[in-house]
Amino acid sequence: MSALNSVVIVGGGQAGYQTAASLRQDGFAGRITMVGDEAGVPYQRPPLSKAYLLGKIGAHALRFRPPEYFDEHRIERLHDRAIGIDRSTRHLHLESGASLPYDHLVLATGARNRVPAVPGVELDGVFGLRTLADADALAPRLAGVRHAVVIGAGFIGLEFAAVAAAKGVAVHVLEIGDRPMARAISKPMSDLFTAGHRSWGVTLDFKLGLARIVGSDGRVCGVETTDGRVLPAELVVYGIGVVPNAEIAIEAGLEVHNGVRVDAHLLTSDPAISAIGDVASFASPYADRPIRLESVQNAVDQGKAVAARLMDKPAPYGALPWFWTDQGELRLQIAGLADGHDRTVQLGSAESRQLAVLCFRQGRLIAVETANRTPDHMLARKLLARGTLLTPEQAAEPGFDLKAYEAATRP
Ligand SMILES: Cc1cc2nc3c(=O)[nH]c(=O)nc-3n(C[C@H](O)[C@H](O)[C@H](O)COP(=O)(O)OP(=O)(O)OC[C@H]3O[C@@H](n4cnc5c(N)ncnc54)[C@H](O)[C@@H]3O)c2cc1C
Repeated sequence: MSALNSVVIVGGGQAGYQTAASLRQDGFAGRITMVGDEAGVPYQRPPLSKAYLLGKIGAHALRFRPPEYFDEHRIERLHDRAIGIDRSTRHLHLESGASLPYDHLVLATGARNRVPAVPGVELDGVFGLRTLADADALAPRLAGVRHAVVIGAGFIGLEFAAVAAAKGVAVHVLEIGDRPMARAISKPMSDLFTAGHRSWGVTLDFKLGLARIVGSDGRVCGVETTDGRVLPAELVVYGIGVVPNAEIAIEAGLEVHNGVRVDAHLLTSDPAISAIGDVASFASPYADRPIRLESVQNAVDQGKAVAARLMDKPAPYGALPWFWTDQGELRLQIAGLADGHDRTVQLGSAESRQLAVLCFRQGRLIAVETANRTPDHMLARKLLARGTLLTPEQAAEPGFDLKAYEAATRP
């Protein structure tokens, strides 16, 4: 049972939807209102840069649930934008002029694309990829172009590159760092993905920046790099990271630092307000400083955790982070956080495109990255969640097998 009468959720994305669904599943009988500034039924983002962009699935398949679900479960959806929080009277102010009272407020506002600060970014044919509207604008353009330039070799830029290459577009990726997905994965795994993209015909240029986007008659026709080259491009897609949508939290005086700061129970500095998903900065047992994660796992598990707390079943949030990305024939899955690793051990081989990279920090396993080795990913999730004592020396022994090790050390 919960003593609350009304929960208002700002944001109808992965985390917002999950909170509402879990509240009802856990027996919450009060009023649930989701306020979202995107039109339509809540949907999942991962396929936008994968199956949806490839044309393999339609928009209906993106929906978490059909529209009837929300009516049947008395989850009210308001298409509106939250513009302010009055914490003293517990009211959320909306752009339409309406104002919603809440007993508890959940901020699940996600993040938005960081836009490159260069001339030409406003030209027709330059896209970010965050929303269904972005994907719907981008997809038809793919059909008619010969050259595309991708700014940033992060997950979304590379997923787009793989899709565009599969559609016969000549793709050139510019990355200011020295390898792909460098913030999140180890060098051996980056190298495998570099080789994969090159084998699909994608050109990758590292340690190279963007000077400006070049246009003709208002449409993009090229990209000038910081070394003075002009690359042809009728389409430019940027994926250079995101900015958390934390403005209403800042204005309301909540603690914000790279996202809305929350405690171990995902509560902000106001006990009547939680923050979850891409917008939340939290302490994790898997990191030595507060982190903000941009993943489905994080949004889902945090939504469930807040719903459980509101139903008087509080537990400190400590879920193991995991993530996946699909690029061409390569499926990368990551369990744990590789940040700060000082040693890696590889299982399988890059040549076979079935590789596992075990990442250790000070002798302790902190993350496992797998390419096309889903069973190992599932085993790694179990091992990391239970705090395995596997050492790099053990993992490097000839014939080491994750499955046998997991079975032998099962509590
Ligand atoms: C193209 C793409 C591919 C991805 N692929 C993967 C993947 O393969 N694997 C993976 O784990 N993760 C992936 N992700 C990340 C994952 O989708 C996000 O981590 C997840 O959607 C975060 O959920 P969220 O609810 O926190 O934020 P969001 O899903 O962004 O939802 C936030 C919602 O709040 C709305 N909003 C913001 N401010 C306001 C306001 N003031 N008032 C009302 N509404 C507001 C936003 O418009 C948005 O609709 C991908 C993301 C993208 C964009």
